[in-house]
Amino acid sequence: MTFKKILPFPAKACSFFVHGRCVAPKTGQTPGEDERQCRVFELWERLQDNALDMAEKWRLNGNQAVQLVAGSLEQAQDLGRLCAGYRADGTDDVLDCIFAHEHLCIQILPPCTGVCPRFQARSKPVSDLFH
Ligand code: SF4
Repeated sequence: MTFKKILPFPAKACSFFVHGRCVAPKTGQTPGEDERQCRVFELWERLQDNALDMAEKWRLNGNQAVQLVAGSLEQAQDLGRLCAGYRADGTDDVLDCIFAHEHLCIQILPPCTGVCPRFQARSKPVSDLFH
């Protein structure tokens, strides 16, 4: 007699399901503190914060501050150098990596193991999930 393995029910209809991973927010963590964030996105945030701190310290006006931020971000556009896992998506998105899901990196997210108590039905029809 052979026993068949019971597989968990796939959770493709869950709003947290993205490419087999679970994007459910961790409890008690704000997005900026999330270690699952894309490292490039995180670096850009840090550069922007540093530039704004400098602008405040040097008492720059609005335009000068914007230029300082833009200048500091301009030097961090080579995504392939910033992240070894980066794979171009071929889109016009600023962060055009196939693994980027909003500010999160799909490679770091835990795999979805099937329907769980945090399941939340998607608002989109299931037929849209495979596009
Ligand atoms: S693999 Fe892509 S999404 Fe993940 S950290 Fe690198 S650039 Fe960001």
